[in-house]
Order: sequence, then C-alpha cells, then structure tokens
Amino acid sequence: MTTSPQRIPITDHRYLPSRYTAWPSSDAAIKRLVEEQTPKVALNDVTLEYETNGSPLLALDHINLQVKGGEFLCIVGPSGCGKSTLLHLIAGLQQPTSGTVLIDDEPVHGPGTDRILIFQELGLFPWLTVADNVEFGLKMKGISKHDRRLKVGYYLRLVQLSQFADSYIHQLSGGMRQRVALARALATEPDILLMDEPFAALDAQTRDLLHDELERIWTETGCTIIFVTHNVREAARLGDRVAVLTFRPGRIKRVFTVDQPRPRQIEHPAIARCAKEVLDDLREEINKSLEQEYRVSL
Ligand code: ADP
Repeated sequence: MTTSPQRIPITDHRYLPSRYTAWPSSDAAIKRLVEEQTPKVALNDVTLEYETNGSPLLALDHINLQVKGGEFLCIVGPSGCGKSTLLHLIAGLQQPTSGTVLIDDEPVHGPGTDRILIFQELGLFPWLTVADNVEFGLKMKGISKHDRRLKVGYYLRLVQLSQFADSYIHQLSGGMRQRVALARALATEPDILLMDEPFAALDAQTRDLLHDELERIWTETGCTIIFVTHNVREAARLGDRVAVLTFRPGRIKRVFTVDQPRPRQIEHPAIARCAKEVLDDLREEINKSLEQEYRVSL
C-alpha cells in the first residue's frame, strides 16, 4: 500500500509523556535548557578493539564526544570506521576496551530502557498488526493494558499512522514501516534514540518526508538523538552538529555545528553549503578507505 495516510493534527493529547509537558515552548528556552545541562552522553577516551582471527582490530581510537540532552547529533564516516560500534557502546551492547561511556554522568554497564537502537532492518513482527507491534515493547515492560492503549494511540498519532493501527506490516510502504519502528521505539519513552542509518533503504522522496516527521517528533518529545548516516545532506538537514569519523581506526576528525533555523529543508542552499563542508572533510577519509580496499584486492 503506498497511499499516504491523512495527516491528523496531534491536538487530542489524552496521553502525554511527562517530558513532553515539561518541555519549554520557545526556541530560546530550549536552547538555554540544553546548554545548562550536563552531557546526556559522554564518551571519554573510548577505545574499542575487536579480536579477528587471533589479531586485534582497532575499531575506535580515543573517542572523546559529549552530547547534550535534547541534542540531535549526526555521525558520518566511511564504511567500517566504527559508526555502528559507537552506537552499540552507547546502547550498552558492547563494552569499551578502555575509556568510559557515561549517560547522565553514570557509567554504562549494559542496555537500559533509557536508550533504544533503531536500525535499517526494522525487526517488526509480520504476524502482528501495527498497533500490536507498537504495544509489544510496552507489554515487555509490564505496563498495564489501560496505559498501553493510551500510549499506543498517542504514538501512532505522533507518526501519523492512526488509520493503519489494524494493518499488517506487509500492507505498508517502506516509509510507513519506518514510522511503525519509530513509534514502537518512542512508545517505550527512551531519553536517547540511537539511529543506525534508518532511512538508507528508502527512496529520496520518502526519506525527505521522514526527515520532516523525525524533526517534528524530536521537537515534540525532547529526546536526544544520535543518528548515523552515510548521507551528508541528511546529516546537515537533521543535525544540530555533525561529527565526522576518520577511516579505520575511527577517531573524531571534526565536529561541525549546523547553525540553521528549524524546521529545515534539505534543498535549502544553507543546508547544501553545510553538507559540502562536511563532504570536503569526509572525502579524504572515503579516499583512504577506497585506497585500502584497492590494495587488499590486488
Ligand atoms: P561502520 O558502522 O562505520 O561501517 P562498524 O562499527 O560496523 O563500522 O565496524 C568497524 C570495524 O570493526 C570494521 O572494520 C568491522 O569490520 C569491524 N567489526 C565490526 N564488528 C566486528 C566484530 N563483531 N568482530 C570483529 N570485527 C568487527
């Protein structure tokens, strides 16, 4: 099914997460709040080494990075530079070889309900309806049936999928499936959304629509987003900042601030200029990765 759902204004807030109601309304107030906070996420001198065929592979090398609460950080870098590994460390799915990962100043020892990872392979259950998919994580958290119903309704409205609550996943377009995955993640009300190239498989038009949706949802929920992508335009369109990682081992090469008002549009000349700046830095790293691939294949 490819028809877009009719847009429903989110005014019927029978259910509102507490963070939503507490979130200030003006841009200036949001900016001040963000600046005053201690980092939501801090990586201090983080190094990660994999063991491959008996020899170590340095994936991440002395990463120092701080992400403020409510910030939207994008991470770009060539394939194999450690972007996914970085998200896994923050998610608590892996532990660093050295250094520390802190959430709200507390060391991360494993996964937690305050963080959720969304990736390209959505992991939606085809035998469940859209609503049941969104409800699944809430059942796992032991939330009462009454609250589950309110939350599912709220988050389906948030991603504009209320009319598709009873549809099955195979009846939805790629963009709609991504929104189900987003609703399912948001329904558990994480503070931090970790997104690993979530829109990479979508066509450009659907991706642009989802950028608008994600920006709106991020503004409405006030969550912190760390978003990995290959696409520098996408990074400049979405991020408050864009961190560029070097080719293996992954190090922070540079962090760009995208000082552009929101809502943004991907085709805006200022976004194109920011993307070009990021690309100039990234290109050097991509060339290194291509050179290495070429040498290995000789
Ligand atoms: P990216 O997301 O930037 O493509 P990854 O974080 O997936 O990079 O991987 C970084 C490097 O670590 C790559 O060279 C990859 O081959 C290697 N790597 C990733 N996972 C493992 C693993 N489980 N065991 C060994 N090496 C791994």
